[in-house]
Amino acid sequence: METKLDTGFKNILNLLRSFGKNYLRPAGLDAERSGEPLPVDHKLFMDFNKLGWSFSNLGGSRNKKQPSDKPKGPRRTSRMSVLAAEELAFWDQGAAMSLPGPGLGGPPVSLLGTPEQKERFLYAPFKDKSKPAWGAYATTEPGAGSDVARIRCTAVRDGEHYILNGEKMYITNGARASWVVIFASIDLEAGRSGHRPFVVEKGTPGFSVSRIEKKMGLTSSETAGLSLEDCRVPVANLLGQEKKSDKNQGFKAAMATFDQTRPLVAAMSVGIGRCAWERARDIAKEAFGKTPHSSKEILMLQRLAEARRQLDAARLLCWEAAWKLDHGENNTKEASMSKIFAPRAGMFATQVAMDIASLAGVRQDMIIEKCFRDEKIFDIFEGTGEIQRIVLARRLLGFPSR
Ligand SMILES: Cc1cc2nc3c(=O)[nH]c(=O)nc-3n(C[C@H](O)[C@H](O)[C@H](O)COP(=O)(O)OP(=O)(O)OC[C@H]3O[C@@H](n4cnc5c(N)ncnc54)[C@H](O)[C@@H]3O)c2cc1C
Repeated sequence: METKLDTGFKNILNLLRSFGKNYLRPAGLDAERSGEPLPVDHKLFMDFNKLGWSFSNLGGSRNKKQPSDKPKGPRRTSRMSVLAAEELAFWDQGAAMSLPGPGLGGPPVSLLGTPEQKERFLYAPFKDKSKPAWGAYATTEPGAGSDVARIRCTAVRDGEHYILNGEKMYITNGARASWVVIFASIDLEAGRSGHRPFVVEKGTPGFSVSRIEKKMGLTSSETAGLSLEDCRVPVANLLGQEKKSDKNQGFKAAMATFDQTRPLVAAMSVGIGRCAWERARDIAKEAFGKTPHSSKEILMLQRLAEARRQLDAARLLCWEAAWKLDHGENNTKEASMSKIFAPRAGMFATQVAMDIASLAGVRQDMIIEKCFRDEKIFDIFEGTGEIQRIVLARRLLGFPSR
């Protein structure tokens, strides 16, 4: 991978590699031992804050064309972000997702927020480096996962407030977040065009954590259920406008967020697949000696090579999607393609790695079984593989997206 990168990218990659090795992997293994998400006072978060980094600031540029009268060089933010996403996931994706910052809540605030909202939510909560802080993003509900049009969380205007009612589930960093961008409907009959994003702050009466999920993978990351019961949210916390003439505004915000985040999520699955692949390569080298002889050994090597081809192809799709964002071009097609292809490539790599390691593959200290468990989730969140295939097929054939 490094041979394709310029010096600026290489230097950052080296920094991330050392951070991943010394901080993320040990933290991820701590969580595996305890079976719980990393606690908010975990050393990783304190050390990360002290380093003064913000990976969420690497989190994608606006999907906007740059004005032609101001010739600027293309941004590098999105390409840097996919590179970072892959490298951090290689070491421990659950821990990387738990790092302090606005997280998935960042893009809707930066896309739709006023300067005052950006100051309140994107900057102020994260200034105190002695206190890690998180943001989160919540669309998913018990009855609305892939089909976001089905959300039933409601927001009813009452003077200078909205009253929010509903349930959200599977929300990353949802319990520890200082604020969560909650997608609610101001008009259930209107479907997606009734959706609006609200920033709901921790401690708002009526806003509570209903559960913390026990998951098969990404153990170090917290996944929470959230409940809103007559929760009064100030009008000043609405992102964008209420007026209905601005059709599909909330939905568009969610979709624009996905164009930024899907290549990142795809790159993460490449990182996990690469972790399993490299472990399997080392095992194969040791087990098969200088020349593989048996048909089983040759078959295993062929599968290892196929897994590598798929991982490399997946990475290039992520890079293309990021390159387009950096150059102000629409990347919805490429973002979908990367999200379809990469998790399957990653899952294939972890499966091959399990087979090559044979019985050792299921041993917890070999990391491969952890990669196997962590990887599956990438075919689920940020749009399942099946849904991405539908979105892509519609787009390729010129049908309107629904
Ligand atoms: C670890 C983790 C973290 C998460 N973090 C967040 C978060 O921070 N914020 C948030 O809002 N959500 C989050 N999610 C939720 C995630 O986005 C949803 O799980 C995802 O959208 C899928 O929804 P679902 O689980 O309800 O599955 P469903 O939508 O019910 O889908 C179930 C299956 O049916 C398939 N399917 C559904 N509809 C169709 C169709 N029309 N055609 C063909 N196949 C279809 C799907 O592909 C899938 O295989 C997280 C989930 C996990 C596991």
